Amino acid sequence: MPLLQISEPNQSAAPHQHRLAAGIDLGTTNSLIASVRSGIAETLPDARGVHLLPSIVHYQANQLPEVGVDAKTFAVQDPLNTIASVKRLMGRGLADVKMTGTQLPYDLVASAGGMPSIRTVAGELSPVQVSADILKALKQRAEDTLGGELTGVVITVPAYFDDAQRQATKDAAKLAGLQVLRLLNEPTAAAVAYGLDKQAEGIHAIYDLGGGTFDISILRLHRGVFEVMSTAGDSALGGDDIDREIALWMMQQAGIAEDAARSHIRELLDIARAAKESLSTQHSITLDVPLATGTRWQGEFTHEDLIKLADPLIQKTLVPCRRALRDAGISAEDISAVVLVGGSTRMPRVREKVESFFGRKPHVDIDPDKVVAIGAAIQADILAGNKPDNEMLLLDVTPLALGIETMGGLVEKIIPRNTPIPTARAQEFTTFKDGQTAMALHVVQGERDLVVDCRSLARFELRGIPPMVAGAARIRVTFQVDADGLLSVAAREEMTGVSSEITVKPSYGLQDNEITRMLQESIVNAEIDLKLRALREQQVEADRVVNALRSALQADGHVLLKREEFVNIAAALDELLSVANGTDIQAIKHAISKVDDLTKEYAARRMDHAIRQAMQGHTINEFTEKL
Ligand code: AMP
Repeated sequence: MPLLQISEPNQSAAPHQHRLAAGIDLGTTNSLIASVRSGIAETLPDARGVHLLPSIVHYQANQLPEVGVDAKTFAVQDPLNTIASVKRLMGRGLADVKMTGTQLPYDLVASAGGMPSIRTVAGELSPVQVSADILKALKQRAEDTLGGELTGVVITVPAYFDDAQRQATKDAAKLAGLQVLRLLNEPTAAAVAYGLDKQAEGIHAIYDLGGGTFDISILRLHRGVFEVMSTAGDSALGGDDIDREIALWMMQQAGIAEDAARSHIRELLDIARAAKESLSTQHSITLDVPLATGTRWQGEFTHEDLIKLADPLIQKTLVPCRRALRDAGISAEDISAVVLVGGSTRMPRVREKVESFFGRKPHVDIDPDKVVAIGAAIQADILAGNKPDNEMLLLDVTPLALGIETMGGLVEKIIPRNTPIPTARAQEFTTFKDGQTAMALHVVQGERDLVVDCRSLARFELRGIPPMVAGAARIRVTFQVDADGLLSVAAREEMTGVSSEITVKPSYGLQDNEITRMLQESIVNAEIDLKLRALREQQVEADRVVNALRSALQADGHVLLKREEFVNIAAALDELLSVANGTDIQAIKHAISKVDDLTKEYAARRMDHAIRQAMQGHTINEFTEKL
């Protein structure tokens, strides 16, 4: 009788069977889902044959929400219940959202923990719930098209997304019933779509100009891992601004006053956008603009006119490009490939400017709207196990160092920036005071040496440490970052095994450009930080010496020291105390070494005393026998 085959738990499919996986580009304005079919990665259309799904959800009381084009039609008549641009709110606190000055037409209210909720007729909804509704629509589309349930998905996020924003994205996926195989940086996905991960090592620029935002990322492929060297951008610059310039030009040409235009500005912007898009393939077109009088104005609009209007805006994108190169410490000649992403990179003028800036022709073969979703689909296919010949698995890296606060407000970096993830690193710490039975752990993110200059991620405590002298306990702190960049921290006292842990899910996110800013500051302040670190370390050492000496003097100073010795040591202790919190590092060092010199003899006597006490009532032989 042949042996019965048993499949692995949770893997009902036979090993050779293709598992359905998809890549999702969850965008601010539009979203897409793509999958590898017959070896080709392609985006999936809806029943009407449309690939782009507007990232808009319309809510009604007691009804399922509408998503996409159907929802978009409600934007004007029912703005409070038609939610767009929710990506800007993901993982952000209400205070952060208000600070960014993002103008949103719907009602934002504070919910638990200062997170924003959106008030709609269907109740108060979190940005995660709204994103989940978009993801559900994409999931449905994929399952209808592919004819089965999805095993898992790869969702792309901007490279600058921090832990909170990534976690919020994962939560949305979970709520939508999707298994996230990995979150992938958008520029990395674009690079993968062009197969740059299969090429030799090199530095690549991903230029992403959409409707409302501009992002530039510099990636380095090193030993099969894409490292984000720098990111920069402008969260309020894109094709929409060009449309606005064209609309203003039309109003001028047609003699439309600003007041008169207000009522049909949307129509003017739509005409402007259509004109701009036509001029990507034509040299000139005739504009046909309605006037308030009921008549129409017609006029010629050429590619030269467009260039005049668009150039200042295109030029504006080169400022972050320069900044990104500078932050990465490279020049344009070091770039080996340029990838274009975003609808506005279809403009020939944008391509021209990018080419002359980087000194090389950009990759343009893949539809710039679809390139991110396609890269994500390729990754999803590999992660789902559809490539038995074990294609290289793409990894990501930590964008900023992760560490722990130590005495003196200093940061001990445990996982340095740019460490390939997933990763786990551990380090041992000890207690500062005699008899200390608890330890407060403060997890921070950033490149600077002082806690105040880093971002606080979480605090937790390890309790139940057995009382010991300072420095005797061994507490192992382990940092683990999973494949999506999410951090878990565990602390364990090695002798007793007491442990405590936390998964970092911070409630507030960083601003878009905060990571870049933090990196810049770390470079600028490197020398200051080094000096401050040295000072803080001396201050902490002074504190430790003062504490240890005080408790020793209290315990046996009067027994083991002659009066004169006691007075001298006390004077040195006073001197140390007077400089311990100052900024003169040499004075602290000098005072510590004076205390050290004066207490050497005392320390030796204490040791003798302790041994004698331990041996009382025993013979030497009893101890040597055990050796
Ligand atoms: P995205 O945010 O990536 O979807 O990009 C949308 C922007 O791309 C809008 O400003 C569009 O007007 C612009 N866009 C789309 N197609 C074209 C085209 N053929 N020529 C110029 N701009 C385009």
